[in-house]
Amino acid sequence: MEKRTELYRGKAKTVYTTDDPERLILHFRNDTSAFDGEKVEQLERKGMINNKFNNFIMEKLEAAGVATQIDQVLSETETLVKRLQMIPVECVVRNYAAGSLVRRLGVEEGLELSPATFELFLKNDALHDPMINETHAVAFGWASAEQLAQMKTLTFKVNDVLKKLFDDAGMLLVDFKLEFGVDADGNIVLGDEFSPDGCRLWDKETRKKLDKDRFRQGLGGVVEAYEEVAQRLGVAL
Ligand code: UDP
Repeated sequence: MEKRTELYRGKAKTVYTTDDPERLILHFRNDTSAFDGEKVEQLERKGMINNKFNNFIMEKLEAAGVATQIDQVLSETETLVKRLQMIPVECVVRNYAAGSLVRRLGVEEGLELSPATFELFLKNDALHDPMINETHAVAFGWASAEQLAQMKTLTFKVNDVLKKLFDDAGMLLVDFKLEFGVDADGNIVLGDEFSPDGCRLWDKETRKKLDKDRFRQGLGGVVEAYEEVAQRLGVAL
């Protein structure tokens, strides 16, 4: 397997083509960004931590029957993945109120949500990832109704699996974002990443924030928190 050209440079990962048209390489960088790229910093070790963390979580999800794009780990910061046609819609599940939900609805941060909520956002930086609903996604051709139904079912399944995984390690899975794509056979597959960059995790007892909110809110100790999460789960760094 040979690395070829840069296909796409995102805010925290770079995607490369390979000599296999069905495989891509994800390179997890140390760049950390917030507020649509307005705040960007290099955080030493973060790329390595997120690559290993993502592989650990994706393996748990595969074992639970969720198809993921992971093929194999290539290095400390690189993973070989199946090429997907990404659906430009972000799926967010929330177990506790935080972030944009608090800002939008004026509810109290930390409120337990029963049932857990499900939201869709259009992946579009220029428009600041606006919230959309299923009819927008179908009407504009971003996803079919069937694909959206599968994405919703899979996102709640991921929530069931990971809520327990984090709870067993003394953490609350507050919310998270998933992105899906379509593989060569037309199946919906979990893509992108699952790491503390794209979810909220609080210590169960103290509610200390252990995710990217430490960066967004300038709380410090960002990488240390990511390392603590990894260590609590038993991810080998
Ligand atoms: N999220 C993400 N990428 C985005 C927007 C949100 O990974 O572009 C994650 C975020 O880290 C959080 C969840 O999705 O775990 C819900 O985010 P929210 O809507 O509260 O937006 P935020 O307050 O992060 O802007």
